[in-house]
Amino acid sequence: PPDVEALGRSTWTLLHTIAATYPSSATPTQQTEMKKFITLFSRVYPCWVCAEDFQEYLKEPENKLKVVEEEKGRGHLSGRSEFGLWMCKAHNNVNVKLGKKEFDCSKWEERWRTGWKD
Ligand code: FAD
Repeated sequence: PPDVEALGRSTWTLLHTIAATYPSSATPTQQTEMKKFITLFSRVYPCWVCAEDFQEYLKEPENKLKVVEEEKGRGHLSGRSEFGLWMCKAHNNVNVKLGKKEFDCSKWEERWRTGWKD
């Protein structure tokens, strides 16, 4: 079976880096693609308990990813700051579940975009 810890570290790196390179203002097409990516990711992630819990997390009303047209306000997929924060909260949800320290989400960009050393 996969090494759940090493897989997790690499995967969070990928997911936060994807959020960090997401456009600051995303078109409906970009939002739709990201929503599909996250949904499919949650079905194929090769740690099955992790994937199941993540699928449940995605169903909770406050976490649901919706495509929002610009004139109708902003959602989790509207742009980098929203999506990065959403990802940080998703990761914190797992941190709490595993008894790890919560990460200060005001620092997600510093960690994953503008850079500091881990
Ligand atoms: P990680 O949690 O992997 O974090 C890597 C780095 O990310 C940290 O060093 C820190 O700099 C940064 N970071 C930490 N928190 C945040 C945050 N909130 N936002 C931004 N950056 C942050 N493991 C299980 O045992 N059971 C599970 O159910 C489970 N579910 C998972 C679900 C998903 C979707 C993913 C991607 C992973 C899951 N994992 C699960 C793996 C787990 O989250 C960790 O990756 C693994 O335990 C290794 O932890 P770590 O302490 O090395 O740091």
